[in-house]
Amino acid sequence: MANSGTYRNGDNSKRGAMKLDKTLSWNSSPKSVASSSSKSKPPRRSNTGLLVGSPKNDAGVYGRVRVAVRLRPRNAEELVADNDFADCVELQPELKRLKLQRNNWDSDTYEFDEVLTEFASQKRVYEVVAKPVVESVLDGYNGTVMAYGQTGTGKTYTMGRLGEKNTSGRGIMVRAMEDIMAGISLETDSVSISYLQLYMETLQDLLDPANDNISITEDPSTGDVSLPGATLIDIRDRESFIKLLQLGEAHRFAANTKLNTESSRSHAILMVHVKRSVKGKDSDLASENGNTSNMFKVKPPIVQKGKLVVVDLAGSERIDKSGSEGHTLEEAKSINLSLSALGKCINALAENKAHVPIRDSKLTRLLRDSFGGTARTSLVVTIGPSPRHRGETASTILFGQRAMKVENMLKIKEEFDYKSLSRRLNIQLEKLVAENERQQKSFQDEIERIAIEARERISEAEKNYANALETEKAKYQRDYRESLRKLEEQWSQDQKLHGGGKTKKESQTKGPDKASREEAPKGSSAEVTEFKRLLESETLLRKAAEEEVNNLKTQVMQCRRSEASANSEILKLRKLLEDEACQKRRLEEETAELQSQLLQLSSELDQTGRRLDGSESETFQGGLDSLMSQVRDSQKRESVGGEKASVAKLFEQVGLQKILSLLEADDADVRIHAVKVVANLAAEETNQQKIVEAGGLTSLMGLLTSSDDETIHRVAAGAIANLAMNETNQELIMVQGGVRLLSLTAANARDPQTLRMVAGAIANLCGNDKLQAKLRAEGGLKALLEMVKSRHPDVLAQVARGIANFAKCSKSGKSLLIEDNALPWIMKNANNDGSPIKRHIELALCHLAQHEVNAKDMIGEGALWELIRISQECSREDIRTLARRTLTSSPSFQGELKRLRIEYPWNH
Ligand code: ADP
Ligand code: MG
Repeated sequence: MANSGTYRNGDNSKRGAMKLDKTLSWNSSPKSVASSSSKSKPPRRSNTGLLVGSPKNDAGVYGRVRVAVRLRPRNAEELVADNDFADCVELQPELKRLKLQRNNWDSDTYEFDEVLTEFASQKRVYEVVAKPVVESVLDGYNGTVMAYGQTGTGKTYTMGRLGEKNTSGRGIMVRAMEDIMAGISLETDSVSISYLQLYMETLQDLLDPANDNISITEDPSTGDVSLPGATLIDIRDRESFIKLLQLGEAHRFAANTKLNTESSRSHAILMVHVKRSVKGKDSDLASENGNTSNMFKVKPPIVQKGKLVVVDLAGSERIDKSGSEGHTLEEAKSINLSLSALGKCINALAENKAHVPIRDSKLTRLLRDSFGGTARTSLVVTIGPSPRHRGETASTILFGQRAMKVENMLKIKEEFDYKSLSRRLNIQLEKLVAENERQQKSFQDEIERIAIEARERISEAEKNYANALETEKAKYQRDYRESLRKLEEQWSQDQKLHGGGKTKKESQTKGPDKASREEAPKGSSAEVTEFKRLLESETLLRKAAEEEVNNLKTQVMQCRRSEASANSEILKLRKLLEDEACQKRRLEEETAELQSQLLQLSSELDQTGRRLDGSESETFQGGLDSLMSQVRDSQKRESVGGEKASVAKLFEQVGLQKILSLLEADDADVRIHAVKVVANLAAEETNQQKIVEAGGLTSLMGLLTSSDDETIHRVAAGAIANLAMNETNQELIMVQGGVRLLSLTAANARDPQTLRMVAGAIANLCGNDKLQAKLRAEGGLKALLEMVKSRHPDVLAQVARGIANFAKCSKSGKSLLIEDNALPWIMKNANNDGSPIKRHIELALCHLAQHEVNAKDMIGEGALWELIRISQECSREDIRTLARRTLTSSPSFQGELKRLRIEYPWNH
C-alpha cells in the first residue's frame, strides 16, 4: 500500500511547474534499450483483459485496482435447502452489473469491471482476472491477484486448484505460472517462488514449515517489501512448480491440523519473482567484435524484476468474538486482525484519506505495493447464491466496490545488471591475457629458431672453410712433391748424359751446377724451356690457390656479418617483447581501474535511483493536507540531501564543462549519453542555474536544431523542460527563440514521448504570467493545442497542465485561451478518464471562470454545467470550493442560473 497515499492525485497547482520526469534521466536509458529489444517481439495485449492499455511509461501510469465478481453455483446442500427460494443475487454479465436482493420487492444494483456467472470457466476467469497482471509482470512490473469472499464461495477453487486430473480445472496460480514459463527464456531469465501462510499475525513458510516466524523487512528508501527468511526456489519447469504447490498444500494442511485451525482462517500467499534480462543492441562490448580501441565504451545490460503476488485470503465472514471456535477473545481479535486492517486500508485509500494504516497488520505490510502502490492489481470477489448468506454477500460486494476506487501508479522495475557486465569484463580480460601470453610465447620460439639457424650457418661455413684449406694444402704438397720428383729425375738424367767428363772437371770447376750451367747453352735449351713452363704453371696454380683463399675469406666475412645482423635482430625482438609486456601491464591496470569505477558508479546509480524513486512522486503531490506534507517534507529533506551529495560528486568527477562539450561529440552514441546525463542533472534544481550559465541551454537548443535523431530530440526537450522550471530560465528560453524551436520539434515528432517532453516544457512556460503574451505570439500556445491530436494520455496530461497553468496566470482581459479557441477541447476533456487530465482541466475551468470577461463564452460552450458538476463531484475539495465560490459570486453565472430557474447553491 502506498506510503500514506503518496502516489495519488498528482497535481502541481502550486508552482505552475512540475518536475517533468525526474525519472526521465533515470529511466529513459533502459527505456530506449527495452523498446529496441521489444521490436523482435510484438507487444503483448490482451483483448479479454480487465485492464485497458499497457504500462509503457517509465514515469508511471495510473492503474486503478480492477475488480471482478464471481458467483459460485448452488452446491448440493443449497439445491435442497434453498429449493423454494430465489438466489439473493441476479447477474447481468453483459452490462457488467449485479443486482442484490434487498427484500422481496426491491434490489440494489452494482457495477463491476467484470461479472462472472456460475457458468464462467476457469480459463475465462484466468484470462479476465489474472492474465493482464501476469503480462505486466513479464514486462517488469509488480502485480497482484487476490481473492476475497466468504468461506465456501470458491476462493481456493479460483486461485489454488491444481487441475491434476482435468486440466480445464486449473486455477489462477497454475495458469499464471504456465504463462510465465512460456514467456521467459531459460537461458537468460529466471523465475523463483516462495509460498507462505499467514495466520494469527504469524508468517509461516509453506515450503519449509519448521520456519514459522518469518519477518517482513522494508527498504526505507524504496518501500520495497521483502521476506529474507522465506525459502525461495528456482523454477525450471511446470512439473517442479506443481510439486511445490502440492508440498505447500500438504504442509498447510498439517500445520492447520496441528494448530487445530481451519485453513479458511489463514491467508495463503504465493510470490513469484521473475527476473528477465533485456539485452540492448549496443550493450555488447565493442571489443567482442575485435575492436579493442573501443573497449571502454561499456554499457551494462538491463534486468527487469517483476514480482507476482497471488493471495488466497481467509474467509471474510465475521467470526464470533465470543470464541465459538474455541478461541479466546484475544485470539479471535488476532485472527481477524489482518483482514480487518486490509478493509480499513482500502477504505482509507478509496476515500483519499491522509492516513492509511498500513502498519497495523502483516497482511497490509505485505500488500503495501498492491493497493495504492506501484503494482498492477486485480481482485476477484467470490460470492454464493444462497439468500441465507445475504448479509455476508452484501459486505463482500461493498468491499469490492471500495477496492475499485483505489488507484495505483504502475512503475517498471528495472535496473542495470552490473554483475553480468563485470563477468563479461573479466572474461574479456582473461582472453586478452591469454592472447598476450600466446604472443609472447611465439616471440620466444621465433628468437630461438633464428639463433639456432644462425649458429648452424656459422659452423657450416667454418667447416667448409677448414675443408677447403685442407684440400688446398694437400694439393700444394702433392704438387710440390711432384715437381721435386720431376726435378730429381731431370737431374739424374742430366747426370747420366754428362757422366765421364764431369769428374775431371769437377776438381777444376766449382761444382756440377756451374759445369752444367756452362754447358747448358750448348746441349739443353729444351730443358730450360721445360723448366720455364713448369715454373709458369707452378705460378698459375699458386695464384689460383691464393684466389681461392681470398674467396673463402670473403665467405667467412659474410658469415660473420650475417651472424651480427641475426644478433641485432634478436636484440630488436627482445625489445619488442619488453614493450609488449609493458603494454599488457598497462592494459591490466586500466581494466582494474575501470572495474572499480564501474563498481562505484553502479552503487552511486543504485543509490541515486532509489532516492529518485523515493522522492519523485512527492513532487507531484498537491500538498493539500498540511499534516501529511509536514511528515513528508521531513523525509524529503533527508533523501534530497543525500541525492544532492551524490550528484555533486558526479559533477566533481567529470566536470560540467566536459559533459556539455560531449553534447557536440562526433559519435552519435556519445551525444545521446551526454544529453541524457544533462537531462538527469537538469532535473535537480541546484544544477539548473549552473547548466544554463555554462551554456547548456544553448547547446541543448542547438541539438534540437542540428540533430535528426528522435531520441536526442526527446531527451533534449525533456532537459529543456526541466530547465524551464526556473523563472529566470523561462525568460532565457523565450529570448533564445526556444518556443519556435519547441513548436518545430513537436511538429516533426513521431514518438508521443517526445511530444510529452515538448508539451511539458511549454506547460512550464505557460505558468509564467509575464511571458504569456509572447508565448502566444511565438506560436507556443498554438503548438500546445495542436498536440492534442496525438491523443496519447501522457501528452494530453501535459497539454491539460499547460492550459491549467495558463488559465491560472491570466490576469486581465479575455483569456487568450478562449481567443485561441481552446474552450471546445477543454469542455470535451473535462470528463476525461485519465485522472490527471481531468483534474488539470477542472482547475483550468475554475480559473477561467474567475474572470467575468470569460463568462459569456464559457456559458456558450456549456461550461456552466461542468462547473456545477465540478462543485459537487470533483475529488479535490479545494477545486470543489473554488467552483462553488465562482458560481455564487459571478454575476453572469448567477444570471444564467436565474434564467434557467436553477437555485444555486442548494444543500447537498
Ligand atoms: P473458499 O476457498 O472460498 O472457502 P472453496 O474454493 O474451498 O471456497 O470452495 C468451496 C466448495 O465449492 C468446494 O467444494 C469447491 O469445489 C466448490 N466450488 C467453488 N467454486 C465453484 C465453482 N465456480 N464451480 C463449481 N464448484 C465450486
Ligand atoms: Mg479456501
